[in-house]
Amino acid sequence: MTEELRAEFPILATTVGRKPLVYLDNAATTQKPRCVLQALADYYEQANANIHRGAHYLSRLATEQHEEARRIVASFLNAPSPDEVIFTRGCTESINLVAQTLALSGMIGAGDEILVSTDAHHSNIVPWQMLAERTGAVVRPIPLSEELTFDRAAYERMLGPHTRIVAVPCISNALGMVHPVADIIAAARRNNDSTLILVDGAQSTAHMPVDVQSLGCDFYAFSGHKVYGPTGTGILWGRRELLDQLPPWQGGGEMISEVTFERTSYNTLPFKYEAGTPNIAGNIVLARALQFVQQIGLPQIDAYERRLTTRLYDGLQSLGGIDILGPREGRGALVSIVVPGVHHYDLGMLLDQMGIAVRTGHHCCQPFMQSLGITGTTRYSFALYNTEAEVDAALAATERALRMLR
Ligand code: PMP
Repeated sequence: MTEELRAEFPILATTVGRKPLVYLDNAATTQKPRCVLQALADYYEQANANIHRGAHYLSRLATEQHEEARRIVASFLNAPSPDEVIFTRGCTESINLVAQTLALSGMIGAGDEILVSTDAHHSNIVPWQMLAERTGAVVRPIPLSEELTFDRAAYERMLGPHTRIVAVPCISNALGMVHPVADIIAAARRNNDSTLILVDGAQSTAHMPVDVQSLGCDFYAFSGHKVYGPTGTGILWGRRELLDQLPPWQGGGEMISEVTFERTSYNTLPFKYEAGTPNIAGNIVLARALQFVQQIGLPQIDAYERRLTTRLYDGLQSLGGIDILGPREGRGALVSIVVPGVHHYDLGMLLDQMGIAVRTGHHCCQPFMQSLGITGTTRYSFALYNTEAEVDAALAATERALRMLR
């Protein structure tokens, strides 16, 4: 099964020097299967034109494919309507869209609290700080427990009359724990029905099923390139009432209904948030990537990747002298480590020389690193095409590298 799947990803045949590439940097970006690469070529060979309002055949074809892509994304997320699916440049832009339109809306005021988990990515911290700067709101970090899991008790104590926004990653990219998002949302709703809840799905969308309706969040954001799709694509799903209520944030073509120099009226959803020519090819191909994932099955992918993650976790633990961030259970498809006395960058460089691609550094989670008193970690992250043999190769290479460094 995996061998057949791997054959669908041409880049996995890469060698680094004379070593076969073992690509374990999937949390940063995933590789692309042939069906995705083909869909990109097909679009430009057969359908390329600007979309909407075109009177000609190609424009109608491209428009139909683009709006079909939106329907595919809506169905992938179990969104009530494709109108609630906004195409963006990525997860970062999706979160900025929410934060900036909220800043413009007047819905956030002085003293309002924005709760963000300590292990959030910078893209789920800085946009809220920018919103806070403009409105007088305050960003408050939700602490992690001592064992580095989401601290539910501390979170519940933080909820109160001023809580206005809760923003959490479903899976944190530097730590790898799956946060109890459904419970986080339920507690926020118990506290105050109108708290706005954004789930950052950047690290979960390729690894576990998502259903925005049963989750009960207000916004869900993710990037296409971490789900086997192209870079420069992303999705913001938002509840219709909110998307209707919030103002547009970028002006231009497509987002308008009528323009005069005296007054402009705005388009309906989803176009109100999509000024200018979108990434037509990218959005169509992103939908193809989601279909690819669905054909394999997210529950199957999740179960398979969990086996790889546990094998790596246990293997690293048995090497000794390694601090693995967070417990063995309840994690996504990644493991982050700190080796006392060894700089993460040196370890990453030696692993690279052995063909193993990992990520080192702060992973855009500086506040989380500061909370641990470290500057960075070495992170191994999986995708559906990784194998047990690759886990073993990574373990053997890590053991060798650490022997050289210690
Ligand atoms: N949130 C999380 C949890 C992430 O891991 C990332 C990417 N590392 C992002 C947001 C931002 O994604 P992008 O850079 O694709 O916009």
